[in-house]
Amino acid sequence: MTPTKIEKSDVEWQQELTPEQFRILREKGTERPFTGEYYHNKAAGAYLCAACGQELFGSDAKYESGSGWPSYWQPATPEAVATQRDLSHGMVRTEVTCSRCGGHLGHLFDDGPRPTGLRYCINSAALKFQPASQAE
Ligand code: FE
Repeated sequence: MTPTKIEKSDVEWQQELTPEQFRILREKGTERPFTGEYYHNKAAGAYLCAACGQELFGSDAKYESGSGWPSYWQPATPEAVATQRDLSHGMVRTEVTCSRCGGHLGHLFDDGPRPTGLRYCINSAALKFQPASQAE
């Protein structure tokens, strides 16, 4: 099932998000490496979109990439994230966004571990961790 899209104005997002979350999720910013809240998080649980709450990644697909950002080899479901070509900053990259609210999450690279070989390189500030013990 395709999730219902969420569309809000910048003013609305600004009211709901912290300045750092807004800068990353709505302005496609990047947090400094090794500074994010979840880079070292190894607890079991789900990573939700910090903007709309959609489940994006699971702790079972999180791995230590050495990049300085939380890294996952697959999303929670194929539908949870969307990807598009990103030609900004003089690079050819694949941007990863939340499929529900369009929030910028990070980028996708092809140097991840097996079985997918993918690395979803995601800003901690775009995520909200829900420990497994608190899942519904
Ligand atoms: Fe979202």
